[in-house]
Amino acid sequence: MFSLTVDESRCNGAGVCKSVCPKGGKIWRIEPGRCVPHDTSWCLACAKCVSACPNGAITLRL
Ligand code: SF4
Ligand code: SF4
Repeated sequence: MFSLTVDESRCNGAGVCKSVCPKGGKIWRIEPGRCVPHDTSWCLACAKCVSACPNGAITLRL
């Protein structure tokens, strides 16, 4: 089952994931100190966010 999750304990909220994501703000919402993949129906499963996250906070399961 598809899932895209963020480990909030590792997330710094700097938003690199949103910056590299081809769908950007359609998926990612940046809040103070954290980020939220609020609509993953847009996700292409490209894993760019997973690779780019400096803290290894994102998990993509297909
Ligand atoms: S790139 Fe990683 S640490 Fe940065 S906001 Fe996104 S999930 Fe959080
Ligand atoms: S896997 Fe790709 S499309 Fe999906 S949230 Fe990450 S960067 Fe965006």
